[in-house]
Amino acid sequence: MKETIFVAFDVDDINPMLEDGLENLIKLKEIFPDLIFTLFMPTMYHGFYYDIDLAIQKYKKLLGSETIVGNHGVFHFTINFKDFWMNNKEMQTIIKNGFFKPFDKIVKGPGWSMSQEAYNMLIEHGYKVMLHPKEYNKLTVVNIHEKPDFFTTNYLLFHSHIAGNEGADNDISNSKVFKNVVKMIKELKKNYNVIFIDGIQLMEAIEK
Ligand SMILES: [Zn+2]
Repeated sequence: MKETIFVAFDVDDINPMLEDGLENLIKLKEIFPDLIFTLFMPTMYHGFYYDIDLAIQKYKKLLGSETIVGNHGVFHFTINFKDFWMNNKEMQTIIKNGFFKPFDKIVKGPGWSMSQEAYNMLIEHGYKVMLHPKEYNKLTVVNIHEKPDFFTTNYLLFHSHIAGNEGADNDISNSKVFKNVVKMIKELKKNYNVIFIDGIQLMEAIEK
């Protein structure tokens, strides 16, 4: 009997104006139809304006209705640059104004960080918040350009970026990285009973 392993796949820095890499996500979904993407899209990536609702609809159509699209900051600035993760009042205004409405109920702050107040506020409103992986002892993060030799937990997060960010190593638009992740998932499936889950399910499981 193969051991069961739960795998989520996130893609950070989604920017509907710069979509290099989207075709690789589509290809990946064709190869592994049971794969579920959890995309993280800022409201206005570095000031780009786009229609959030339309973008979410498009991703769910292209990558499957089970695709999750979570918020990833307003402008994608980290806490040091005063993105919206600052205090209760700002966060309350943002939630009240329905700023997060079109998104699925999961948030990852830019650079995986946010203030304690913002975190509390989101949790109170029923959101899942993805903090830095070091916060969770049940989670193994696999950067998709690497080749891990072993997994320490049964919950894996395949972590990636899409073009639009400042040249991350785990950029899915890179053909070498793409080939690497296809190989990794195939190997994983050979050795384990792989169950793909979305980011919300992952957070529910590892927070227990
Ligand atoms: Zn980011």
